[in-house]
Amino acid sequence: MVLEYRLEPTKKQLVIVANERSGRPLVFGKTKVTCPFDKGVEKVTPPTKLALPNERQWRTRVFDNAFAFLKRRGKFKPMKQGELYWTSPAFGDHEVIVESDVHGALYQELGDEQLQLVLETYQKRFRTLSAQKGVECTYLFKNHGQKAGASIDHEHSQIVTLPFVPPVIKEELEANKRAGTCLHCALLKREKKNVLAKQGAFTAVCPSFARFPFETWIVANEHIRSFTEFSAGDNRDFMRLLRDVVARVYGVSHDYNVLYHNSPRTGELHFHAEVCPRPSVWAGFELGTGVLVNPKSTEEALAALRAVQV
Ligand SMILES: [Zn+2]
Ligand SMILES: [Zn+2]
Ligand SMILES: [Zn+2]
Repeated sequence: MVLEYRLEPTKKQLVIVANERSGRPLVFGKTKVTCPFDKGVEKVTPPTKLALPNERQWRTRVFDNAFAFLKRRGKFKPMKQGELYWTSPAFGDHEVIVESDVHGALYQELGDEQLQLVLETYQKRFRTLSAQKGVECTYLFKNHGQKAGASIDHEHSQIVTLPFVPPVIKEELEANKRAGTCLHCALLKREKKNVLAKQGAFTAVCPSFARFPFETWIVANEHIRSFTEFSAGDNRDFMRLLRDVVARVYGVSHDYNVLYHNSPRTGELHFHAEVCPRPSVWAGFELGTGVLVNPKSTEEALAALRAVQV
């Protein structure tokens, strides 16, 4: 059993070797009997860490990922400056957040009340996990559909903690430093014509430089560090906008990821969620060059997303 961070030295690519994951079950289709996220079979997952509104009548439930690629095991060894062949135990947390007690209910079908419980669950786990010693970054994400990496189709997200700031978030922080300004504040001004929808203090934009067809970012209008700083009104507005975006994205791609970018422990990042439809997989060109081909123009993406009946 191996659970280790390793550095691929020729590209400075961080890798987690986690061979326990290869035993993951695949649950697709409405096969109630075999879904480990259903009500009544809680014992098949690791113990409940949080359930809302309560453990007996839960409508959201959190537990450690049974096939975690990060664990609170061993001692993290930070990478030294210039270290080429760095390895360290893959220390961290990796939890599953089940977002509905109804198998087969899609995220965009969840009502306001359920969505508020979902966001409250994200925020509570985010706060608890982030407060632990040694956590530099807490990251929430959602995989929906097999092409987006999901292995179970019961709606859920995952939350992880890392003892370092991962490369993508580090790059976003450094890009702001190089630009001398917040690029997400700037985005809202630059991409006005690419706005898909607005709700309260949030804007959904299809950026002109989208990496994926129909990629949509939900950006807080004000410079806010984290979704843990939302007001009650923000909570409602954000989830309504997210539901609208997910419904539209689902209309064009049943496979999608949601990447929540909050500020790490140190550093200032403008809260945003990147909704990335994954109708196609990265192929040899993308993998070997790091250059992504997006087969949809921004105008086509906006037109298609606007045309989806929600
Ligand atoms: Zn289920
Ligand atoms: Zn900003
Ligand atoms: Zn981001």
